[in-house]
Amino acid sequence: MDWEPLIAAAAAARAHAYAPYSRFAVGAAVLMEDGSIHAAANVENCLPALGICAERNAIAAAASTGLRRPQAVAVIADMSPPATPCGLCRQTLAEFAGDLPILMVNLQGERVESTLAELLPQPFSLRG
Ligand SMILES: [Zn+2]
Repeated sequence: MDWEPLIAAAAAARAHAYAPYSRFAVGAAVLMEDGSIHAAANVENCLPALGICAERNAIAAAASTGLRRPQAVAVIADMSPPATPCGLCRQTLAEFAGDLPILMVNLQGERVESTLAELLPQPFSLRG
């Protein structure tokens, strides 16, 4: 797995984070089944519940082009150890993938690789 294009895309997206309240900028990039990479940043709101994480923005961007099968996700934030996707994002990814590798990185270059199944072992599903 060549993570570098995903990390670069996530970092570029992070530069556009809209995080005036938390000042916690996050970027995420998802590699889709056709090889395309879709990246996004977190977008906050003055009503905290309306904020959307970078990971969900990225998968929504990909899904909005008709793609449905994410192959890998990279997340970057300024946090040590590297930030993990929140529960909402894990469940959102589980909508489109039973499992996939997830790489979490920070600005110092620390990397933690995990999987969706490891981070969310029993996702909610209506698929039976
Ligand atoms: Zn999240």
